[in-house]
Amino acid sequence: MQSTTAICPSLFNAATAQDGILSRIRLPAGLITSTQCEVLTAVVNKFGNGEIQITNRANLQIRTSQALTKEALLDLQDYGLASSNESTDGLRNMMASPSAGIDAHAKINTIPLVKAWNFYLLQHPELAILSNKFSICFDGSEAIRVSDRPNDICLVATEINGEIYFDLHLGLGDRGDSPAPVGVLVPQKQVLEVLAALTEVYRQYTEQKLEQKTHSRSRPPRLRELLHDWGVEKYLALVTKKLGYALRPSPLAPLPLGERGTRSLEVYEHLGIHSQKQSGLFYIGVVVPLGRLTSQQLTGLSNLAKQYGGGALRLTPWQNLLITDIAKADLEKVKQEILNLGLYILANHPYAAIAACSGYKGCKSAHTDTQADAKQVAAYLENCIQLDHPINIHFSGCEKSCAQHHPSDIAVVGMGGINTETYRVYVGDGDSNFGREIYTDYDAKNLPALIEQLLQNYQYQRRDSTQTFREFVNQQS
Ligand code: SF4
Repeated sequence: MQSTTAICPSLFNAATAQDGILSRIRLPAGLITSTQCEVLTAVVNKFGNGEIQITNRANLQIRTSQALTKEALLDLQDYGLASSNESTDGLRNMMASPSAGIDAHAKINTIPLVKAWNFYLLQHPELAILSNKFSICFDGSEAIRVSDRPNDICLVATEINGEIYFDLHLGLGDRGDSPAPVGVLVPQKQVLEVLAALTEVYRQYTEQKLEQKTHSRSRPPRLRELLHDWGVEKYLALVTKKLGYALRPSPLAPLPLGERGTRSLEVYEHLGIHSQKQSGLFYIGVVVPLGRLTSQQLTGLSNLAKQYGGGALRLTPWQNLLITDIAKADLEKVKQEILNLGLYILANHPYAAIAACSGYKGCKSAHTDTQADAKQVAAYLENCIQLDHPINIHFSGCEKSCAQHHPSDIAVVGMGGINTETYRVYVGDGDSNFGREIYTDYDAKNLPALIEQLLQNYQYQRRDSTQTFREFVNQQS
């Protein structure tokens, strides 16, 4: 039987939320086959509320009214939806670009590295003591970049003198910051051993801290705590000692801070129809409203992937998904079937770039029903405005900003209220992480009209159609 006492949920140790028991299914690189979708929907239909949520790490969450039985967990294990080693299931937190292996711009296909690292974790149960949030990212330099997503370790493919290497980035900053380059270049054939050494030194640090009872058993230190405690130099010196050879210095100049993690529009370019590097094949990026699918929608999408595509879905860290390997002759049919499922494919659909955390139905810290308020705004905008760019609107139930770590065009943060829900409203860049505050206590029921007004002002008054919403509002400050 599943345990239900976790703070950070996994499959074998779920968390108890106000709206049920929350289990997280970690999918390396966000890949899920049509057969896995069938197994998952059977579990959701039997134990759950019929809904499946894509997280901002391209994993899946389900809510059930009771703990999953041993049989259900074994089914999920049998079909590769859980690690065959229960103790390391919570560590399968591996991100890759959703277009890895199908993108003509990429330097390398990172999927084999993701699979190899997943296999390594299976063989090393001693790593189970690490924080469940320990996260690894492989960026193959695809057009859909993931190197700015918050991760503990990110390996970014780069080409030097015709050879492909990986530039090592570490999560040095605060929660939600992009990992930063640390001046180390890793040759392809050394990637796994360098990752293993980075992880083993972190494991030894974790063991020491747990023995010293600096952290409780349920909260082992994050890698960034090691980095703050020791500094990068000492960490890499210990990694070098473990490897028995020197790490190669990187000749690449790090990007200035302001140029990292600030992309806003191009991340939605994966939506819609795109050609793949494989001649004659295409992928469709599907808009999933607030990252939530019904089990019928997931079944419909996985059937499309099986019948017309490569037999798998690729989840994205923007809580959308791709169906890949579609022949040109089938594109129109697949597109129509997606629309028939109540989903969208256009990047300028209001739902394309709206993100919301679980709100008070799923989180004790929430002051507002972010999911319901976000749906209300999307439905209103769909009927009254035609967007020509995706506009990223972020609903957060409190200051923690779980649903989205990168800056948004418009952010609203729940404030509660005695008889009515209110939000702080922010736009563009400003003193706060959410942007520049324009209202402190805005009634939730008036948000749709306010956001429509902000967007109309932008469309009528912008310099020209190339000026983004963020540029427009920043020049007004
Ligand atoms: S942002 Fe706040 S309210 Fe929303 S899920 Fe996170 S902790 Fe809960």
